[in-house]
Amino acid sequence: MEYAKKQLPDDKLKFPARKQLKNAIKNPEKTLLKMQDRLEHLNNSTQNTINLTDPECVWRPNKKNNMTMGYNIHHIVDMDSGIIVSTGVSTNPDNHKDFIPQFEHYEEFYGQIPTTTALVADNGYYSEDNLATINEKGWDAYIPNKELATLFKKNKTELKPFSKYNFIFSNDFSYCTCPNNQKLTKHNTITTTKGTKTFYYAASYKTCKNCPYYKECCKSSTQKIITHYGGDLAKNMYLKMQSTRGKEIYSKRMPSVEPTFAQMKHNPGITQLRAYGVKQAQTESELVAIAQNIIRINEYIHQKNNT
Ligand code: SF4
Repeated sequence: MEYAKKQLPDDKLKFPARKQLKNAIKNPEKTLLKMQDRLEHLNNSTQNTINLTDPECVWRPNKKNNMTMGYNIHHIVDMDSGIIVSTGVSTNPDNHKDFIPQFEHYEEFYGQIPTTTALVADNGYYSEDNLATINEKGWDAYIPNKELATLFKKNKTELKPFSKYNFIFSNDFSYCTCPNNQKLTKHNTITTTKGTKTFYYAASYKTCKNCPYYKECCKSSTQKIITHYGGDLAKNMYLKMQSTRGKEIYSKRMPSVEPTFAQMKHNPGITQLRAYGVKQAQTESELVAIAQNIIRINEYIHQKNNT
């Protein structure tokens, strides 16, 4: 034991490894069993490393895009009342993989979602697979693609005359037509890891150079190049999001849903779950949602009494 203690290069080992080695000196059998269990988790995991304390949690990007270990927590919030109607914890690092399971989980409790109910989500839940399933299920979903999400974030309601949103795409997406009625042909397609396709369109240099809107449209580039995402389903969602109803519904998401998330974090001071394991994390998340709903109902009663 003394020999092992001397061999622990404290300054060179990271804290978790040092802790495990110290535990192994104190209780070798228990530590060995724990390490065997963690090794099994690691072998079954799609990730290169696991958390020794909670082997079920996963690496995922946080709001600031830094990789942290934890769970992905989703809440379905009623936009009119701010009440959380369903909550789910998953080990998918990407939000978009949880969109369909979350609403299927909701349907298990509340029955089939009516086709008149609007399901609104941010761009993190956008994927071609989700659009296909939403279409099959007949859900009235509103999820912006990356371009529109950026536009909505900037709170831009008025499009610039030569914004790419004013270019009309052909049904087969092989070309688009600019506001000066010139054709931009598709010259490249890139498929992202989410399965989303990005199409690149370019007008010819000659056409743009002789166009009266050249300076305004192309600015510093020599010709107009624009991008667009996806196939038919993506196009339909894009048009739906750009419709008056789409813009109106999506604009309600931020003021009605985000305060609920902010209150959950700041009022009770719950910035992270304390439970270990998916099941316990799910239970803790549900308890937090119940507490938040009680606060919301209390606020509602106060508002009603004061009017
Ligand atoms: S500059 Fe080119 S893309 Fe822009 S409006 Fe003129 S022709 Fe169309």
